[in-house]
Amino acid sequence: MVKLKHVLVIPFPAQGHVIPLLKLSHCIADYGVKLTFVNTESIHAQVMTANPGLDDESHRIKFVAIPDGLETDEERKDPIKRLDSMLRVMPGHLQELIEKVKKQSNGIEDEQISFLIADVMVGWALEVAERMGIERATFCPPSVSALVSILHIPKLIEGGVIDNNGFVLKNDLIRISKDLRSYKSSDLVWSCPEDPATQKAIFKSLSSVAHYSKLSNSFLCNSFHELEASAFSVIPGALAIGPLIASAQLFQCRGSLRKEDSTCLNWLDQHPALSVIYVAFGSTTVFGPEQFYEIAHGLEQATQPFLWVIRPDITDGAVSEFLDGFLQRVRNYGKVVQWAPQEEVLAHPSVACFFTHCGWNSTLEGLSNGVPLLCRPYFTDQFLNKSLICDVWKVGLGVDSDENGLISRHEVREKVSAVLGSDEIRENCLRVKEMARKSISEGGSSLKNLQSFIELVKA
Ligand code: UDP
Repeated sequence: MVKLKHVLVIPFPAQGHVIPLLKLSHCIADYGVKLTFVNTESIHAQVMTANPGLDDESHRIKFVAIPDGLETDEERKDPIKRLDSMLRVMPGHLQELIEKVKKQSNGIEDEQISFLIADVMVGWALEVAERMGIERATFCPPSVSALVSILHIPKLIEGGVIDNNGFVLKNDLIRISKDLRSYKSSDLVWSCPEDPATQKAIFKSLSSVAHYSKLSNSFLCNSFHELEASAFSVIPGALAIGPLIASAQLFQCRGSLRKEDSTCLNWLDQHPALSVIYVAFGSTTVFGPEQFYEIAHGLEQATQPFLWVIRPDITDGAVSEFLDGFLQRVRNYGKVVQWAPQEEVLAHPSVACFFTHCGWNSTLEGLSNGVPLLCRPYFTDQFLNKSLICDVWKVGLGVDSDENGLISRHEVREKVSAVLGSDEIRENCLRVKEMARKSISEGGSSLKNLQSFIELVKA
């Protein structure tokens, strides 16, 4: 009789990490592996509220929660406090959880945790697993090009390219390997132009990745070889298993932290093919009111149907009065939701382009559906993703700031029209979409890698 294995999966507590790790978990569970998904208590509560039915007893994945040591969401917004607290309390809670599972298993081997998959941002979980004699793998939610720069942090410091806090000392192009395109200093993935304190905290956390990565036997990447071949060549151990995409059955429980508003799908049904601009800036981007107004005016003036995700916390100032008037003016061609079922939206035939912040998940979701991208990065790896999108794969255009640091309404209008009118971009999008589909189809490179990883887990 084949013994079942029990895998524990632990994401970093943020939207862009929970979704891809949950997709990976579903893929693994499809092969008959028992799975426990560990969130922080705060994320667990949000996932359960936004995805009713996910914790159904009959469900193949068990969701559990451990504390992050913080009392309030206000404290969680402070990246320094958050990362410090997680590092201080979560390893102990994780160990207790694994011991508890062992105790409850009454000696039945199949019930005990035999494998741990940790998000690259919670490398301390690998240390816990190693101490407890559990096999382990790292999962990397950002691109492999981002991972290359993260793993090279010690060399960049040694070479005097950055200081110990990740701030750039030489503003030249950065060459990491002769096989790889040089990085612009603004593309270094810990970049937070508007917030040096956050940059320091993120950099500190990323600096430990090189150390923790030595503790795992596999490095799983949500990307595909054909997309980032040169970056993969720099990290020979990295295993391409992406793009992880939500199957139709998963659409209902992808692990969104907010309730998805599906009314926009009916709205999309009423529009012709390739006519709608989808606008969404992920889970954390924040605009000042002035920038928000410019984007709104730009969309209004483009007079193209648009679907815009406006999270209640997307601005750091009050915009509700403006929004009332705006919605009234664009009522015949604009639709606004607080959170969309994004993968279903991007797969909808009426979507013509995606105005995005270039988070890696959003980027992959756009690429997998062959949707041209309009890029307005906000922080971290999003600048690098924008460079890949616009300069390497040529599947989108940047929406650039003016001398006041603002993206003007004029720029939005012009770039919407340019991206919609570009045959070259559309052709490149369809080519990349085809490559993505192939890599995860029977016999495709990513699917083969995923299957061999699952064999390893089951062995
Ligand atoms: N997302 C969604 N609905 C929205 C906006 C975003 O479901 O209205 C999902 C999107 O599909 C993606 C994730 O949230 O999987 C965002 O991850 P990404 O890496 O793009 O950006 P982050 O939020 O981490 O900045």
